[in-house]
Amino acid sequence: MIVVNNINKTYRTPTQTVKALDDINLRVEKGDIFGIIGFSGAGKSTLIRCLNRLEEPDSGTIVIGDSVITDLGKNELRNARRKIGMIFQHFNLLDAKTVFQNVAFPLAVAGCAKKDIRPRVEEMLALVGLADKANAYPSQLSGGQKQRVGIARALVGEPDVLLSDEATSALDPHTTYSILELLADINRQLGLTIVLITHELDVLQHICRHMAVLENGRIVESGSVDKLFLHP
Ligand code: ADP
Ligand code: ADP
Repeated sequence: MIVVNNINKTYRTPTQTVKALDDINLRVEKGDIFGIIGFSGAGKSTLIRCLNRLEEPDSGTIVIGDSVITDLGKNELRNARRKIGMIFQHFNLLDAKTVFQNVAFPLAVAGCAKKDIRPRVEEMLALVGLADKANAYPSQLSGGQKQRVGIARALVGEPDVLLSDEATSALDPHTTYSILELLADINRQLGLTIVLITHELDVLQHICRHMAVLENGRIVESGSVDKLFLHP
């Protein structure tokens, strides 16, 4: 479903050169929950952002479903991204818009008809348990509720893949658990493939089936979560 071949990425600033990704190879099966774990600076964020080309790799190929992501031109990339949802550590909601408008936003941008947007947004808000918050503003919500809005927005375009960039890192342990349970439910209900990055072992062990360990831009270990933790 997702195949990453020989991805490299170097950041060059006037003062330093950092090899953030060094020959990364990965394979994520359709319907999996795949976790990438590593310390701060390991390259996790760079790697997950390469999957939807928020970051441009220097070399290598990324295939998601039928799309060779790394070969796409601007317009094709815009279409391909509709099938790749993403959630963020700091939620990235639009503060001046209501919960409903935030979730509707990707559909509105895509030129969807108003009459099609409403039922779809309502369905997504029900899915994440926020049907009663449609008219609230992000500032009126708890952290967990904000991330639920982020999840609803990520799923509203019916993506095949959900990317999670430290989605629970800003949340307390109880809320983290409820968001992870929601993601696991969504994976079960929709068969959606989830790729997440985290620096927390608990997160990985709680919902991931497969994993890779990233260290200094290289994958140093990968496999099934159960097997890797049975034989430390
Ligand atoms: P992680 O998500 O695991 O913390 P990152 O992918 O953010 O790691 O960063 C990997 C390395 O690349 C780090 O050394 C970081 O400082 C560097 N880096 C990340 N983004 C940039 C950037 N825009 N410019 C220069 N260096 C960067
Ligand atoms: P908070 O951030 O305030 O701790 P949560 O993120 O735990 O709240 O939950 C937000 C809302 O979603 C609550 O109203 C809760 O009852 C509801 N909720 C919690 N878990 C689920 C679930 N798995 N499916 C649907 N709704 C849920």
